[in-house]
Amino acid sequence: MSNTRRILITAALPYANAPVHLGHLAGAYLPADIYARFQRLRGRDVLFICGSDEHGVAITLAADAEKVPPGVIVDRYHTMNMEAFRKFGVTFDNYSRTSIPLHHETAVEFLMEFQRRGILSEKSEKQLYDEKANMFLPDRYVEGTCPVCGNTDARGDQCEQCGTFLDPMQLLNPRSKITGDSPVVRETTHLYFPLGNYQARLEEYVRKSDAADGWKENVLQYCRGWFKEGLKDRAVTRDLKWGVKIPLPGYENKVIYVWFDAVLGYISSTKEWARLAGRPDAWKEYWLGPDTKYVAFIGKDNVVFHTIVFPAMLMAWNDGGRERYVLPANVPANEFLNYKGQKFSKSRGWGIGVGDFLQRYPADPLRYSLAAGLPEYRDSDFTWRDFQAKNNNELADILGNFINRTLAFAVRAFDNAVPPRGPLGDLDRGVLSLLERTPPAAAEFYEHYRFRDGLMEVMNLARGANKYFNDSEPWKTVKSDPVRCATTISISLQIARSLAILMSPVIPGSCERIWRMLDIPGEAARGLWDTAGEDALRPGHRLGTAGILFTKIEDSMIEPDSTVPPGEVAPPPGAAPEKITIDDFRKADLRVGKVLRCEPVAKSEKLLKLQVEIGTEQRQIIAGIARHYRSEDLVGKLVVVVCNLRPATLMKEESHGMVLAASDAAGKLVLVTPESAVESGASVK
Ligand SMILES: [Zn+2]
Repeated sequence: MSNTRRILITAALPYANAPVHLGHLAGAYLPADIYARFQRLRGRDVLFICGSDEHGVAITLAADAEKVPPGVIVDRYHTMNMEAFRKFGVTFDNYSRTSIPLHHETAVEFLMEFQRRGILSEKSEKQLYDEKANMFLPDRYVEGTCPVCGNTDARGDQCEQCGTFLDPMQLLNPRSKITGDSPVVRETTHLYFPLGNYQARLEEYVRKSDAADGWKENVLQYCRGWFKEGLKDRAVTRDLKWGVKIPLPGYENKVIYVWFDAVLGYISSTKEWARLAGRPDAWKEYWLGPDTKYVAFIGKDNVVFHTIVFPAMLMAWNDGGRERYVLPANVPANEFLNYKGQKFSKSRGWGIGVGDFLQRYPADPLRYSLAAGLPEYRDSDFTWRDFQAKNNNELADILGNFINRTLAFAVRAFDNAVPPRGPLGDLDRGVLSLLERTPPAAAEFYEHYRFRDGLMEVMNLARGANKYFNDSEPWKTVKSDPVRCATTISISLQIARSLAILMSPVIPGSCERIWRMLDIPGEAARGLWDTAGEDALRPGHRLGTAGILFTKIEDSMIEPDSTVPPGEVAPPPGAAPEKITIDDFRKADLRVGKVLRCEPVAKSEKLLKLQVEIGTEQRQIIAGIARHYRSEDLVGKLVVVVCNLRPATLMKEESHGMVLAASDAAGKLVLVTPESAVESGASVK
């Protein structure tokens, strides 16, 4: 496999219904980008493809919740996520979206080809129908009582309380999420793909691919589980208005099921890339080329679609004899990254958004800390302390320190040029031998999708180089043995160049800076991996201007890692919020209020019920401060109230406004109060 020249890389298409978070990056996008950058460094012909998944119930539910058309949701998150990936430094060759006509054509082409060749079968099934909304209800549009645990708010596809996967027909007392009515049962017709017919070939495909490219054990386990259960027919169509329309009579009110169209998004995104490049057929070189190695990066929740469903679809197409698509040679799925002990989840609003994070910190420290802790074999945790430690103790103290002291010494003692090398001593030979071993050792790990281990190899070189600099004591030999000193600095500069190449898949921005500090022409990241160990800087080569590579992160800049309940996640501290005008600010009606009475809210550990006097008016306000204040301590206090907030109901109590509070370093909420006595009702501006 190592002599494969053309490599097609895809990363799972994120749903355009929420911002991508750190869990997504660690699951698929960062490993995929490290792999793409690494393979380009090795001189391979790489195409790296992604895009937004803009269909399915996840999108329409988000649109219904905001009472806007689905197009508004997908436009917003497609743009936001594309920008977050760009800031994070992900080098997609194309980032498409599944709502474009080219994608719809591609999905319809597959469906119609399968239909024409009699692969699909039509079946009638019973489904819940909302008579008031006049539509069939997809699974997640139904809620009801879980038949297993009795949870009255179970979703049509799964009960979140007991974890049981459900069919909407199994729910007791089902209700429509659209109208709240009890749906009726009606017959509907759908096309099915006979996944079971491909089981034997799929098992063979997984076995052979694993033998050739070493699949990950977690991925193989998922496959074995699915095979053991036996693959079943899968519906290819569903009753929904948003999605890829089907040009078949009787299917006017149905669309292609999102699982079928989403995986084809990789192909349509590649077609779009080819068109934009002015070579409309170039996509075929990757998808139809027999010497392409195709690697599909995904998170573990997507394994079945990439190891079973998509390969079966491609097998079915290939059986037609027209063209032969390549199947994934590997599907290196990661486990989950957790945050404060829980899985990142966009549906539960839990975790840290990429955009928020990158407003506060540069991409490289995040890339480095995630790469060093990728959940490759088991779930791992993101913690602020670890992020700070990786930045300060590894990037700044080891890598940054080595580069800076080397360049500073070249300026001071050798007129900012590469000095000539004298005879080598034991220390020199030791570090040069480490330098020679590192590129092939790291490459071996990267070729096998072991990015943590590969990065560790490279960081060991940086550690070794730092120690070499210390042990060689150039600040002493500069006087006592100038040839020795020149040799130390020459070798250190050679290693600095090597590190700029070897670290660039993980921290590309910083490596470009090292490259410029060394004043080497061209980019650090093109085809140079195999030269990384070489002595490529000639004596007399003039160096550029040195600068600080990594800034230390102070304790005050990070969030405490104590556990907080879900739904209370703040953006990273200091994250610069969007700028507003004074007119925006004036929309908020802030007034001083005086607490008249206060009592706990029944069955709530968090909420207090306040009766607040605001001028001549009296209001009830529910505040989430019960863990921080006792009711009796609040009576008589002056508070600042947001008066024109829409009323809300919390634990069955109405709340007309909000009191302002700040959280201190320990996470305790402290009420905002006027510095001296002010009449209640006074406006705050
Ligand atoms: Zn349940």
